[in-house]
Amino acid sequence: MTNGDEPLKSDVEIPEDVSDNIFITSLDKIYNWSRRNSLWPMGFGLACCAIEMICTAASRYDLARFGMEVFRASPRQADVMIVSGTVTKKMIPTIVRLYNQMPEPRYVLSMGACANGGGPFKEGYNVLDGVDKLLPVDVYVPGCPPTPQALIFGLITLQEKIDQQSILKVPWYRKNDPTDFVPIPVLGPDLLDLRQIDLIRENAQKQESEELAEKELTEQDPTLTPNT
Ligand code: SF4
Repeated sequence: MTNGDEPLKSDVEIPEDVSDNIFITSLDKIYNWSRRNSLWPMGFGLACCAIEMICTAASRYDLARFGMEVFRASPRQADVMIVSGTVTKKMIPTIVRLYNQMPEPRYVLSMGACANGGGPFKEGYNVLDGVDKLLPVDVYVPGCPPTPQALIFGLITLQEKIDQQSILKVPWYRKNDPTDFVPIPVLGPDLLDLRQIDLIRENAQKQESEELAEKELTEQDPTLTPNT
């Protein structure tokens, strides 16, 4: 096995007569090889892009060639979440909950313009402009919708990313895991990302004190009209 273009070398001297029968590898290579060839996507879709995802798994495009045909009905058994479709704010708590239920190592592939950045519904009151606002996305696949070939290319790109990972540096298996639990956003007049709660509180207090100061000014001088 090679490490990029460089062949891996052994510290142990290998006798000439058995050198053809010995396979030199590294822990990283085995670890990455087993993960990249058995990525099990989660079987869930959000909108029209999901139809393309479904047909990618069917016989014509045959995702099984890459070890990815086993779409799982449970996040507990899935390695990769393909966010395929429009991410509405109503769906976000569910998507985040499903992500949290996936065991690590786990990956997120954002499929299509909607999941990447809101797509044609970007300005919609009910649409999140990009699933990466909440989840760590590994690969983005552009298109509206992306073709099955594009999705396969995205998954191959994910495999290449996995090839580059080292067990010593991956974010999981660590005490302060940055990909760990994502707080489930709260739905209200707008989506509330609990990770931003301090900033939101600070802005709300600032706004409140500005309004108070403005009110006091207007009370002192009624000829002033408050900014609206
Ligand atoms: S990107 Fe296009 S095809 Fe995909 S969900 Fe959005 S509107 Fe539908």
